[in-house]
Amino acid sequence: MAKNEGWQTSASEALRWRAGSQVTEIDTSGKPGFDGDKALGEKLLSERGERLSELQELLYANGRSGDHRSILLVLQGMDTAGKGGIVRHVIGMVDPQGVKAASFGKPTEEELAHDFLWRIHKQTPQGGQIGVFDRSHYEDVLVVRVHDLVPPSVWEPRYDIINDFEADLIAAGTTIVKCAMFVSLDEQKQRLAERLDRPDKYWKYNPADIDERGYWPRYQEAYQAMLDRTNTDGAPWNIIPADRKWFSRLAITELLIEALEKLNLDWPPADFDVEAEKARLAKA
Ligand code: AMP
Ligand code: MG
Repeated sequence: MAKNEGWQTSASEALRWRAGSQVTEIDTSGKPGFDGDKALGEKLLSERGERLSELQELLYANGRSGDHRSILLVLQGMDTAGKGGIVRHVIGMVDPQGVKAASFGKPTEEELAHDFLWRIHKQTPQGGQIGVFDRSHYEDVLVVRVHDLVPPSVWEPRYDIINDFEADLIAAGTTIVKCAMFVSLDEQKQRLAERLDRPDKYWKYNPADIDERGYWPRYQEAYQAMLDRTNTDGAPWNIIPADRKWFSRLAITELLIEALEKLNLDWPPADFDVEAEKARLAKA
């Protein structure tokens, strides 16, 4: 298989947020950079999953040998955008031993008593791990801003605080892969309807999700500000059209593969004398 079968350009190149873009103009059913249909996308997902898994094992092996590097996948998106599906179907393709997954819901009282990054710091990946955030520190400039949960004087400085926080993570060896998943208002309606039709999906349904639909334009504004102000060179945003689940899963798989390949990992050398051990084993 050609390394980039189906892709006309690298996923990161095709999906990168471009300064000056408008959230309201994102084509949520697009498949930027990918020249293929669902059948090809699904075939590639499983093939590329094997590559992802191999790279994750390399990362883990290096972490065991003291390498500080790690990956952090940050997933943001409105309800039903498919964040949970990425955790299950993309991250689910690698060895769970090397994964640190965290989801961030409404803060507890204890969390609210601390700085907004307190609960985030506790979940950052260690060397060798792939960390995944299903929602993240960005909720503190999204839902919090939309619903005036704190005054502007509190959320306003958070963009810079987040940029500093991410720069520190990068300096410590973490590659941050930020994905903003965008679903259309119509597609969201269909997915919510499905949750109401299927007993196996009731657990995902939250009556408040319908109220949130009324705040769509305010969310778009908040997403716009987030993208404009936290798209740094070190931790750029990727825009993931999410109306087609197969595409969003394939795209994020590719982004993770690219991030891992950039680390140029090799199997760590033995910290013992291989020949001597073979000789010992022969006699044992
Ligand atoms: P879910 O991801 O469907 O489990 O929903 C989690 C909910 O928690 C969403 O409605 C989020 O907007 C909300 N949430 C996450 N972080 C925060 C935060 N820092 N402040 C207020 N609400 C939050
Ligand atoms: Mg929900």
